[in-house]
Amino acid sequence: MTLTNWAGTWTFAAALADHPRSVGEVQRLVAESGGGVRAVGTFHSFNDLAEGRTLISLADMPDDIELDEDAATVRVPAQLPFARIAAAIDARGWALANMGSLPHISVGGATATATHGSGLANGNLSTSVTGLDLVTADGGLLHLDRSDPRFAGAVVHLGMLGVVTHVTLAVQPGYEVRQDVYLDVPWQAVLDDPAAVFGAGYSVSVFGHWGTDAVQVWVKTRLPGDEVPDTRWGGDRARVQMPIVGDDTDNVTVQGEPGPWHARLPHFRFDRQPSAQGEEIQSEYFVDFADATAALSAVRALSDRIDPLLLITELRTVAADDLWLSTAAGRTSLGIHFTFRREAPEVKALLPEIEAALAPFAPRPHWGKWFAMSELGGLYPRFEDAAALVRELDPDGTFRNDYTRRVLGL
Ligand SMILES: Cc1cc2nc3c(=O)[nH]c(=O)nc-3n(C[C@H](O)[C@H](O)[C@H](O)COP(=O)(O)OP(=O)(O)OC[C@H]3O[C@@H](n4cnc5c(N)ncnc54)[C@H](O)[C@@H]3O)c2cc1C
Repeated sequence: MTLTNWAGTWTFAAALADHPRSVGEVQRLVAESGGGVRAVGTFHSFNDLAEGRTLISLADMPDDIELDEDAATVRVPAQLPFARIAAAIDARGWALANMGSLPHISVGGATATATHGSGLANGNLSTSVTGLDLVTADGGLLHLDRSDPRFAGAVVHLGMLGVVTHVTLAVQPGYEVRQDVYLDVPWQAVLDDPAAVFGAGYSVSVFGHWGTDAVQVWVKTRLPGDEVPDTRWGGDRARVQMPIVGDDTDNVTVQGEPGPWHARLPHFRFDRQPSAQGEEIQSEYFVDFADATAALSAVRALSDRIDPLLLITELRTVAADDLWLSTAAGRTSLGIHFTFRREAPEVKALLPEIEAALAPFAPRPHWGKWFAMSELGGLYPRFEDAAALVRELDPDGTFRNDYTRRVLGL
């Protein structure tokens, strides 16, 4: 049976191993693999990142969630989608700091690739990780936490360090959020003062196309918070539910009224297919937020090339962090995202043009989306340390693949 990722943009050559039901079985599978092993999450990456000879899915592993209220942490099996974790901790009055656009992705896969939501003061989802439990290349077990100097190099690991069986995340007391959509906000308002637009709420997303005069600004306000105005930057607050892609208002979370953090921070509902239901290719590049205006202007110059292939662009922010392979390592970042039509040859031809336009800003591509760049190590100040950690924990390359060779030279 052919195995593809969620969007059907990558067909795996690898076979899926028998689903292990215990950590011991994972250890045995890795030890007996002979190399070429990749763990897989929920298959939401768009590229060949998760490819291998043997894929290990943890979908049948036990799913107990261990909340430690004294430590304000939750230890979760890596295969669980964020929605499951959110429901369990919310029921006990706890919350995560942020979520990505969809709650369907696994915590293991999301944190391995620096998956992010938005917010100038919010780190990506990997920054909530306080501990990792791994099965390493020799089939042994390794626990890493913030007391270990290797931890900052291990959190965003791209599957290269082993099979992560459990992830421990920081939690905080539960809170409410409301999200409001401002229509017909002039592009110029974003270009003139990006800090004002992206600083207007706990989590802010700008949605639109490149050649238009106006965009939508989605503001997620953490409550209790300031009064939500009816007009911002000359754009009116929508009074009806707004879609993200096409006219599907059924798959987006509730707008215009307060609700629990996990039902407002993601754009998409867990009980619906997100985005364009997989009829799409996604790409995203991170630049220093200080370069936002110049970088956005450079991409806008390509609007005639981009917009015919584009379903929607989303702009978000990510706070700087110290994780060695995080796309926000050392710089508060603007994420410039494209949801393209699933027209693979045309998108492949376009990406080098976008990358050339962004080149002056040292763009870092999202690890799990489409990009044409290769040999990315030089973009990461701690890359040599990260490479040394990969070689230390996996000297024979059990968990490396064509992607890690092409993209990182590892
Ligand atoms: C509709 C849609 C919306 C998206 N929205 C966002 C968004 O808002 N923000 C954002 O940043 N990204 C977003 N993404 C991208 C997505 O979050 C990342 O690609 C993420 O890595 C997918 O997680 P996954 O569980 O599907 O992992 P997979 O794609 O299955 O795997 C990703 C990587 O993690 C490794 N991995 C997975 N599980 C383990 C494990 N247990 N142990 C070791 N390695 C493991 C794999 O080997 C692979 O290298 C979106 C993707 C889609 C399809």
